[in-house]
Amino acid sequence: MKIGFIGLGIMGRPMSLNLLKAGYELVVFDHHEDTIAELVAAGAKAANSGREIAQECDTIITMLPNSPHVRAAVLGEDGVVEGAKEGTCVIDMSSIDPTESKAIGAELAKKNMDMMDCPVSGGEPKAIDGTLSVMCGGKKELFDKYYEMLMVMAGSVVYVGELGSGNVAKLANQMVVAINIAAVSEALTFAKKAGTDPELVYQAIRGGLAGSTVMDAKAPMMLDGNYKPGFRVELHIKDLTNALNAAHAISAPAPLTAQLMETMQFLRAEGCEKEDHASIVKFYEKLSGASVVKNT
Ligand code: NAD
Repeated sequence: MKIGFIGLGIMGRPMSLNLLKAGYELVVFDHHEDTIAELVAAGAKAANSGREIAQECDTIITMLPNSPHVRAAVLGEDGVVEGAKEGTCVIDMSSIDPTESKAIGAELAKKNMDMMDCPVSGGEPKAIDGTLSVMCGGKKELFDKYYEMLMVMAGSVVYVGELGSGNVAKLANQMVVAINIAAVSEALTFAKKAGTDPELVYQAIRGGLAGSTVMDAKAPMMLDGNYKPGFRVELHIKDLTNALNAAHAISAPAPLTAQLMETMQFLRAEGCEKEDHASIVKFYEKLSGASVVKNT
């Protein structure tokens, strides 16, 4: 199968390398020429636009920052739609607003083209290992057709429902993660202010009901004062913006997500946008006047 791949950033680069290693023929495009050159050295063919990719491939993966980038790469000038044949399928693996997944899919359907939304969870380490979690929306027959190819990049590939459902699952994931980091932050700053060692509190509670993957990933970072990304605050702001837009469009109240959005605005005001989202703890440290960092 020949696959077009647009967007060779932190995630797209290792994902496309894994497809090449598995023997898929790739035609790639990005705005950054350096990453294209790296992929070409690994065996991919370079293209100059989405249009050129679509002239060669009838399966095209996009891995781009947000909805406007996907819209531009697929429907914009020199975009996929300008070179595509009927039956071409765009598999968007970016995390975007599900309302936009549906709107872009509807434009493609007018040209007898298909679209799936298949965002991922797991970050760069899992993109490198090929163990991402992929959440798929779109026609079930397309999911069946592409399952094996998606599994090359993933540890799990789950069908969630119609187009847009993949990004609903991804946004649900991002809501749970942000709210959990805030819960861990609030609890650890409370412990510190109560005069109890937050690290020992973490060790005492991590094996019980309060323990979570988020707690084990983020509490040690907070205790070390280590905010090296990982997952950047600015990307989480993008996801919560999409989550709130999608929730408001269907009158689904999301009060905790809205609260976390305001917490993230504090981080932006403090210049922490490029830090790991574990820096949510800084909001609670500022409120309480107590730092959870060891030996402080
Ligand atoms: P990134 O910014 O590192 O890479 C995006 C790439 O897209 C860049 O190389 C950029 O040059 C390219 N690009 C932008 N617009 C383009 C266009 N119109 N045509 C061609 N190329 C274009 O982003 P990333 O970290 O790889 O994230 C991609 C998506 O995956 C985002 O939606 C993000 O939220 C999601 N995601 C990221 C992580 C993570 O840990 N980084 C984890 C899970 C999901």
